[in-house]
Amino acid sequence: MTAQVIDGRACARQLKEQLVGEVAAARADGVGIGLATLAVGEEYSAGAYQRRLRRLADELGVPYLHRALPATASEAEVLAEVELLDADPAVSGILVLRPLPPGIDEARVFRAIDPLKDVECVHPENAGLLALGVPRFVPSTAASVFHLLDTWLDSVGEDRAAFYHRANIVVVGRSNNVGKPAISLGYERQATVQSVDEWADRTTGIGRHTRWADVLVVAAGKAGLIKAEHVSEGAVVIDVGINPRTAPDGTVHMVGDVDADSVAPRVRAITPVPGGVGPVTDVWLLRTTVRAARLAAEARTPVEVP
Ligand code: NAD
Repeated sequence: MTAQVIDGRACARQLKEQLVGEVAAARADGVGIGLATLAVGEEYSAGAYQRRLRRLADELGVPYLHRALPATASEAEVLAEVELLDADPAVSGILVLRPLPPGIDEARVFRAIDPLKDVECVHPENAGLLALGVPRFVPSTAASVFHLLDTWLDSVGEDRAAFYHRANIVVVGRSNNVGKPAISLGYERQATVQSVDEWADRTTGIGRHTRWADVLVVAAGKAGLIKAEHVSEGAVVIDVGINPRTAPDGTVHMVGDVDADSVAPRVRAITPVPGGVGPVTDVWLLRTTVRAARLAAEARTPVEVP
C-alpha cells in the first residue's frame, strides 16, 4: 500500500481564499479585526510560529500586534500585558505563545484573557464549552486535524458521518491545547475515541492501543515515536508533532512524531511534516480571529427594545 499524502499546504490555500472573502465582508460591515500575540522569553518554535502569523496577517490585511516580554518578566507583568490587550478595541484575538517561562502560572495567564478574544480557546470558559460540545471557538491545531480529515474524506468520496461513526480514533498525547481538544472533536463526530499518553508508553507500550486506530492522531512532541509496528494496515495518520532537528551544518529543520519512512507503506493516508497540520493551523487562527471580531461586534450592538 502506498499512502496518499494529505496536502496541508493545499488545504491551507483553500481556507485562506475563503478567509479573504470573510475579511472583506467583515470590513464592509464595519467590524474591526486585529490579532495580538504575546511572547515571554525566546523559544525557537514560538518565534517561528509568530513570524508565520505576522506574514499571514499581512497577506490578509489583518492588523497584527506582537508584544514580547523578556524571559525574566514577572507573572504580574505578563498579566498586566494581557489586561492591556483585553482592553484594546483594535484587538479581536489574543494568542499567548507557549511555552511560558518556569515560574509563570500558565493557567492564571490564560484565565486573564477576555473569553471573547480567546481565539486559541485556552480560557476555562471556552475550554468548557468545547468539552460540552457547544464550542465558541475551536483551538487551531485540533480544528486543523479534523479539517484535514474532513477534506481528505471528501476528496476520496467517503461519507463523513459513515466514516466517523465506524472509526476508532486514537489520540496520542493529552495536552490541554492539542490532545484534549482533538478528543472532544472526535466525540463531536460521534467516533469512538481513545486517548493514549506516556504512562501507557512506559508500561505496556503504546502499540497495543495505536494499532487499534482507524485514525491515528499523534501529538506527543517526540520525534519518530510512531513506527511501522505501531500502526494497523490501512489506517489514516495525522502527525501533529513539530520537532526541531539541527543538522551537522547547523541548519534547523522540522520532523514529526511519526517515522514517515516506515509508516507510509502500511497506511492509507498520512500528513507530512512540514506541510501537513502546521499550515492549516496558522490560517485557522486568523479565521477564528475574524469570527471573534464578529462576535465582539454583535456583543456591542445594543439590543433594541420594542
Ligand atoms: P505537550 O508537551 O504540551 O504535550 C505532549 C503530550 O504528549 C503530553 O500529554 C505528554 O504526556 C504526551 N507524551 C509525551 N511523550 C509521550 C509518549 N512517549 N507516548 C505517549 N504520549 C506522550 O505538547 P503539545 O503542545 O500538545 O504539542 C505536541 C506536539 O505537537 C509538539 O511537537 C508540538 O510542537 C506540536 N504542535 C504542532 C502544532 C501544529 O500546528 N502542527 C501545533 C501545536 C503543537
